[in-house]
Amino acid sequence: MNQYHYYLDLSVRLAKARNKNYLAEFLTEQRNVLDRCFGGEDYVLATYYIPNELLVPFDLPVIYSDRIAGFGAACNLLKEEEWKKSDQYTSRCSYQIYLNSMLKKKILPLPKLIVASNYPCNSAYQFCKELSETYQIPFLDLKVKRQESTEAYQDHVKQMEQIFQYLKDHFSVKKSIQSVVNISNQMILIKKEIDDIRNQYLGIIDTQDMLNIFTLYNDFGKESSVEALQMLRDDLHSKTENYSWKPGVKKLMWLGTTPLCMSLIDKIEEQYACKFVCEDLFLFCAKEIHFDTFCQDLVKRIMDSIFFTEEKRVFKTMEIAKRYQVDGIVHYSQRICKFLPPMFPKIQKAFSDIRIPAIELCGDGIERASWDKNYKEQIETMMRILCEDKKIEC
Ligand code: SF4
Repeated sequence: MNQYHYYLDLSVRLAKARNKNYLAEFLTEQRNVLDRCFGGEDYVLATYYIPNELLVPFDLPVIYSDRIAGFGAACNLLKEEEWKKSDQYTSRCSYQIYLNSMLKKKILPLPKLIVASNYPCNSAYQFCKELSETYQIPFLDLKVKRQESTEAYQDHVKQMEQIFQYLKDHFSVKKSIQSVVNISNQMILIKKEIDDIRNQYLGIIDTQDMLNIFTLYNDFGKESSVEALQMLRDDLHSKTENYSWKPGVKKLMWLGTTPLCMSLIDKIEEQYACKFVCEDLFLFCAKEIHFDTFCQDLVKRIMDSIFFTEEKRVFKTMEIAKRYQVDGIVHYSQRICKFLPPMFPKIQKAFSDIRIPAIELCGDGIERASWDKNYKEQIETMMRILCEDKKIEC
């Protein structure tokens, strides 16, 4: 049995044993997709914001670049000396280096097609472009202009339609677009119900779980994802009756990506009498899509997303922080990442203007040793500020 398959099987069983059926369902689907790709089936390599609904009609397995590198690292598919030393892209983030090594060492077969966007990460786009040139893999791109103008919108729609047309010309449709639209809309409705429960019962679900499954965003339009979201919603419903917020516990917001060692989040909550109540990565997808305006709606979703501009992210996270009366912000920044870390200074300034402290923890989602050892100090400083500010004893 392959190492990733064994690891994911274990994770599924562990999730079930802990009554986290939604997580088990999510991981089962990831394992199934990887089984197909590692087994030699034609697959597409895509970057994070390429909508899965574009590819589901053709029943093409899709590997999202950061997700596969994260899985690879979690499953220890490559030893550190194998992926770190073997790579030519020394200025790249560890996710790209790891994925490149997986392809180079033929642990993962080459994709049949690459579909990449420069949003949210131009570095991931450039990396995919280089992969396509190195291995002569057909490359489709969505060059997003980060402007909220009609001209930009129309240009994005045109590119999205071209990608969709290419897929129609090269692959046979196996699922009707209407059914994909229906499934996607069903997911959006369930996601909204989950958000509503979380709004009403702050902290009812662990942030660690949310960060484990936020990449469901990449699985819109798939039946298995509807199941996973339904299970999550039902699980939350069942907890509401006996749930209440513990007085005195500080409310924190988690911004940014996921650390390799997720138990860190539990540790922070246990040691400092605080609870994370929201994550910006899980703030996705609010609008339905339609058959007649398929590509337009997918473009609108991208342009509506929280990370589309720095201002949007600052505005949206501040609005939520005020609504939930959040006490502090923890921003996790991936090493050498060109996406979220450069936004931190603006986030910190905006929150400090409304007297909410924001700290940045730095680490690496792939390389364990690159963890910022000073994180305890930073959290302790923040908790001290919170206690002094609110005149509460620590
Ligand atoms: S730079 Fe950041 S967003 Fe881009 S691929 Fe690397 S980790 Fe992902």
